[in-house]
This record gives sequence, structure tokens and C-alpha cells, in this order.
Amino acid sequence: MSRVLHRSPAASYPVAASGEGPYLFDRDGTRYLDGSGGAAVSCLGHGHPEVVAAIQDQAARLAYGHTAFFTNEPAEALAEHLVADAPGSLDRVHFVSGGSEATETALKLARQHAVNRGEPMRRRVIARRQSYHGNTLAALAASGNPGRRVPFDAMLPDGVTRISPCYPYRGQRADEDEGAYGERMAAELEDAILGAGPETVLAFICEPVVGATLGAVPAVPGYLKRVREICDRYGVLLIFDEVMCGMGRTGVRYACSHDGAAPDLLTCAKGLAGGYQPLGAVLMSRAIAESIETASRPFPHGFTYVGHATACAAGLAVQRVIDRDDLLVNVTRQGAALRDDLAARFADHPHVGDIRGRGLFLGIELVADRESKRPFDPALALNARIKKAAFARGLICYPGGGTADGQAGDHVLLAPPFIIGDEHRAELVDKLADAIGGALTEIG
Ligand code: PLP
Repeated sequence: MSRVLHRSPAASYPVAASGEGPYLFDRDGTRYLDGSGGAAVSCLGHGHPEVVAAIQDQAARLAYGHTAFFTNEPAEALAEHLVADAPGSLDRVHFVSGGSEATETALKLARQHAVNRGEPMRRRVIARRQSYHGNTLAALAASGNPGRRVPFDAMLPDGVTRISPCYPYRGQRADEDEGAYGERMAAELEDAILGAGPETVLAFICEPVVGATLGAVPAVPGYLKRVREICDRYGVLLIFDEVMCGMGRTGVRYACSHDGAAPDLLTCAKGLAGGYQPLGAVLMSRAIAESIETASRPFPHGFTYVGHATACAAGLAVQRVIDRDDLLVNVTRQGAALRDDLAARFADHPHVGDIRGRGLFLGIELVADRESKRPFDPALALNARIKKAAFARGLICYPGGGTADGQAGDHVLLAPPFIIGDEHRAELVDKLADAIGGALTEIG
């Protein structure tokens, strides 16, 4: 019997033993192609010698130095690296250990900044339905994903207003183009701010490309710029959650750069250290950094492992390899090719409703009826069945969606490592098509 409390107590898990490039191997030697980078984490694949060496070197030098006493070289160098091409005026970085900590930190930085500038009444957060910003209580309160909130709802801080996500497959009306749809969605933000009272609204948080809850759905062109303008009009801070979609996954380091929009706070994690170490970060605007740094009272926040040197060394090595080897070019090329492959393979598939995404961050939405876009009954758990069928065929993919309210269908999220070649792409598409076929046969 395992003493580990696993994610799904009913499941039995193979023991992950090793990895090489885009493959993982279990203890029995079974090979799995990592078609989703775990959860969009693994961007360099496994066993990269330079990343391994950087971790070993740093761990051999220093186990731990508390940031109340020290800074460290990898954290300083990684912060420099991240701000070098960061959008807007983002120019200071706070390192944490993952995405949920990054969300918590971003919300607290926003609040501290509001208090520092004499606006203590600003506390309301606006977020979107079908969103996920983390598992800790404030991050979960901001998240609109109902499945993850039960049974914690009663404990979650209130003060969150929710608006529609930008989800053209289901939200765009027949009588509007993408531009008009984006305007309408952004107008919901303005209405929410006005409804709550602009002086009470602290921040708006959204993912530039929605990952886990919708399956790689980019905002329509113009939407992010428009929400930036609205936030500026009412003094509301804009937080982009790039925990999943950032760090090159869409072909550029910061996903919001595709849209020419810059936030006041940007969170990242997952691909930052590519799974070699737990690492997340919050990038903040100069104005926020200066208000925190010049306040008479220190910002009362900080986790024990903030700026951990070994984690930052891993992140620095990962980001340097990505830049040196021009891997984002491969992300764009392989991403476009994978999307074409999927479109060709599923062109006439009666249950593949939509294929979307950007770079190596793609989603496939499954529907009971392609014409009406009617989702499958969530009780059938199609996405979980596809995950299982794919795993049995040696493919890891990330399932999601299928909300009880029918507002989102089942989807499969693909986010393979940036190093994949043509042969991995072909294997991924073949196994996925086979797995989807197998799962659909199961539900009849
Ligand atoms: N934000 C987004 C967009 C995510 O996808 C996730 C995790 O999937 C998180 C935040 C939370 O990150 P973590 O699981 O590292 O705490």
C-alpha cells in the first residue's frame, strides 16, 4: 500500500523512473510521449545536460540562504533575463515556487500598491468564468472553475466579480465578427467595474490564452488591448496570468506580446524552470515596484523558498538554452505543423468541434454534435476517458472542460516540449486519434 495520498485515490499510478527528451519511462520500462508537458510544464523535455549541470553546481555551492538576509546570483541573473524583453514597464521580479503562490503574490502586491497610493477601498477583483488561477484560497476565489471550488466555496474570500471569458467558439454570435465580439466581451469588464463602483475595484485578472479550463483559447485580436484601456480609465490594475501560456509556450516569451498589451503584473511558473525545479515568478511594473520599495512599511509577504537559488539556477539555465538554441522558432514551426496535422486528421470527424491555440499550446474541443456544438454529457467524463486511453497507448495529454452547466465542452490540451521534431508530432497525432476513437467507442 502506498503511503502517498495520490491525486485520485482510486487510481493506481505507474512509478515515473526516468526521462529523456520528450519521453518519460516508468519503472517497468514503458515509454510515454509527453504530449502535454505534464501540465504545460516540461518545455525542454528531460535530462537536458546543461540544466542538470546548473542545478548540481548550484546545489553543491549552497543549500539555502534566506532572502531576509541574502540575495543570490541565480535569482539576480534570472530577473535580469526576464525583464530584458518583458512587455510594458515590467521591471522587477519576485520569485516564488509555483503558479498559485504567484497568483497570491500578485493579488497582494496589487492590494499593497492600492493602499500605498491612498486607495484602501480598492479590494474587489474581477475575473472570468471558466478560469483557473491556482489552488490556494485567494487564487481559488479568483478562479471561476466550479469543479475546483467545491467544497471550498464556503471558505473562499468574497469580493470577486465574474465576467465572460473570451471564447469565440461558443460565445461569438453569428452576426458579429471577432472585433465586435472582443469589444462586447471587453464591455463586460467596463460594466462590471461601473456596477461595483470603480473606486472599489482593485484588479482584473485573466489568462491571455486560457489553458486548463477551456483548452488553449487565445483572446480575439484587440480584446487584451481594450481591457488595458478600460483598466487604465478606472485605475484598475491588470494582471495577466501566464502561468501556463507564458515562457515561450505560444512562440514568444510572454503570450501577451502577441496582442501588444502589457499588464501591471504578470505571473509565470510551469515553463519558467521547465519542471526541473519548482519555480514561479511575478513581474511587476516599475510603478508598483517603486511604491512597494518606498513605502514606510515593508510588504508583509514572503514564502520561505522565495528566490531559492537552485530553483532560480534551473530557471536561468532553461531560459538560456531556449534563447541560445532558438527554440521558440521551433515552437512556432512545430506548433503550426501540429495544428495543420490535427486539422487534417480530424477534418471530417463528427465529434471534433474545434482545434485552436497558439504555438505549442493547442486545444481540441470534442462535441456530441458538430453542427449545433452540443457538448457531451459531462457525466460521461469523455475527457478523462481520452486521457486514460492515451496513457494506455503511451501518450500523455491533459484533459479538461466538460462543465456541468454546458458552457464548455470536453477538451484535450496539447503542450509538448519545445524540442519536438516531426517524428514526435506524427506519433502524437496517431496515438491521440486512436485514443479519441477508443474513448468514443467506450461511451457508445
Ligand atoms: N494559473 C494558471 C493559469 C494555471 O494553469 C495554474 C495551474 O495549472 C495555476 C495558476 C496554478 O499553478 P500551480 O499549480 O503551480 O500552483
